[in-house]
Amino acid sequence: MHLRQNGVAPGSQDLRGFIIISIYKELGGADIASIEFEGPEIAVYVKNPKFILENEEKIKALARKLRKRVVVRTHPDARKDKEYTKRFILENAPDDVTVEGFIFDDVLGEVRVLTNKPGKLVGKGKWFANKVLAETGWRLVSFRSPPPPFSSKMILHVFTWVENKEKAKERRRALKEAGERIFRDTVSSTRYVRIIGLGGFGEVGRSAILLDTGESKVLLDAGAAPDALGDNMYPHFNVPEFLIDQLDAIVVTHAHMDHIGMIPLLFKYGFRGPVYATPPTRDLMYLMLQDFIKVSSEQMGYAPYSRKEIETMFSRVITVDYGVVTDVAPDVKLTFYNAGHILGSAMAHLHIGQGKHNVLYTGDIKYYRIKGDRAIRMLSPAHTQFQRVETIIMESTYGATEQQPRHEAEEELIRTINEVYKRRGKVLIPVMAVGRAQEILLMLSKAVEEGRIPQDMPIYIDGLIFETTAIHTAYPEWLAPPVKNSILRDEKNPFAPPNLVPVHDRSKRQEAIWSNEPAIVLATSGMMTGGPIREYFKYLAEDPRNALVFVSYQAQGTLGRRIKDGEREIQVEDDGKIRVLKINLEVKAIEGFSGHASRSELLYFLKHLTPKPRTVILNHGEPAALASLYKAITGRWERLGFPSQPEVLVPENLDAIKVYPRTLRLR
Ligand code: ZN
Repeated sequence: MHLRQNGVAPGSQDLRGFIIISIYKELGGADIASIEFEGPEIAVYVKNPKFILENEEKIKALARKLRKRVVVRTHPDARKDKEYTKRFILENAPDDVTVEGFIFDDVLGEVRVLTNKPGKLVGKGKWFANKVLAETGWRLVSFRSPPPPFSSKMILHVFTWVENKEKAKERRRALKEAGERIFRDTVSSTRYVRIIGLGGFGEVGRSAILLDTGESKVLLDAGAAPDALGDNMYPHFNVPEFLIDQLDAIVVTHAHMDHIGMIPLLFKYGFRGPVYATPPTRDLMYLMLQDFIKVSSEQMGYAPYSRKEIETMFSRVITVDYGVVTDVAPDVKLTFYNAGHILGSAMAHLHIGQGKHNVLYTGDIKYYRIKGDRAIRMLSPAHTQFQRVETIIMESTYGATEQQPRHEAEEELIRTINEVYKRRGKVLIPVMAVGRAQEILLMLSKAVEEGRIPQDMPIYIDGLIFETTAIHTAYPEWLAPPVKNSILRDEKNPFAPPNLVPVHDRSKRQEAIWSNEPAIVLATSGMMTGGPIREYFKYLAEDPRNALVFVSYQAQGTLGRRIKDGEREIQVEDDGKIRVLKINLEVKAIEGFSGHASRSELLYFLKHLTPKPRTVILNHGEPAALASLYKAITGRWERLGFPSQPEVLVPENLDAIKVYPRTLRLR
């Protein structure tokens, strides 16, 4: 075996052997039961759990040397019985820690514990987690149990697939297959880097990008169009470059339907590779996809895939935290960074061909100036510091439009609510289940607390919002510091004002619609393409005392967009009959709440981005937004801090762009 200077073996056949030998040499073979290539991780199974604790530093050093993710797990035979482990945790946990549930993950050797004090349970320097590992062989992972009115049951529900015995077998097999594929014997090294737009180019919706290196193929997002039927609902999966059995991995930036909606469809057509996502994205996806098939079967009478495909997909999901470098193909390393858009949202950084080329795909981003910011923020702004970026694929939703400052938007919403209250009407706010729903709840909670909106005005939440909000409180570490502190330190629920009323059944919905009292209603879907919002709208639209307030982007072709653009008569179905609905309520759009960066924030993001890319590819925008942002960047590149004029491209769906190598130079 000959090694290159950086300690990485040349061929992958050699690579696997090299890794195994290195591990035996460095960690001492006696305690090692087996070494498995499990997805992007090299899993070392040991019989003695204490070995893991005693060799922590050595394991870290080894991972650095190999530049691979090395995890050490106890061999299943060395793990204590689950009942014993539960008892051990309950009896030995620090006094003021309450444990509300356990989920055992046999595949990863983890016990997920739902608790009111996640940090305290793990302990300073992980002392308690280490004690549990040494005694039981299980690795303790703690989750914040959601404060009332949310319940731990909801979180345990999204983890149910973890405990499914049948699925555990499939997950184990999936990890091995993915591991074999990632550490495969490569035919050729990276020959080129091509970016192929399958969806979301020149438009907003059905985001999907195929990254092709000649050696491997990675799909970045696979979304559904927000309001299109037939062929336009799907990304262009029929291009010749896109063959499901050649696909190495799917990388998911965040849990919005226009980025995840069509992943289960790929499983329906035979994809069995890994799907990479952050842990909150995984949990939100689980809820969103199930809700999607439920809502589309109810409203359209059919869904493009079933629960079975969602379950199959979930046996292949591999989670990756922000900042962790992960091999997803022999020549592609993925790192997620905070995108500031929704909980768990990530930008995907792809390091290709041992550094031949680096691509940053932003997904959807939010960026803002922290200094002097007076707004209530749920998430920190997108990350801007990287080691290398040669090509950026950047969203352009608001490329042509400015948004009012966030704190002004907050004022405007509060003013509107008070006006509607005075005329005894109802405020209807369409929101996606994830993102704006929580930001608005956060803001309303504070306003109620400060007495700026009436306490006796119930805030109804309908649709998936109740469940998705619960997931937000389970991941406090992923939220902006003030929100995180109020959950962890002050043990408050910043998303639950005292007048919150979750709608779980028809009777509560009827109450929200027909009561004579003023009220606020937050309901899905965010663009009024389906979901309970349509029900509310149907009965509340004709009363001028009410108001419909848009707080997020309305894509072309959706009902929300049509109303926002001025349509005042629409057809609705009532008991099987079509009638014309006159829209008499006040219609208002407050742009400042968007989870997308405004035009100036997009430019500000580019200005702060280090290093500066050579190529800027604009996607996820309507033609006017793309054109305007294109002009701004090409006209102001010096002011944005680019050392030389960047190449700015605005491809359409089905276009392929080769970003590496570049041989032809015209300038
Ligand atoms: Zn999004």
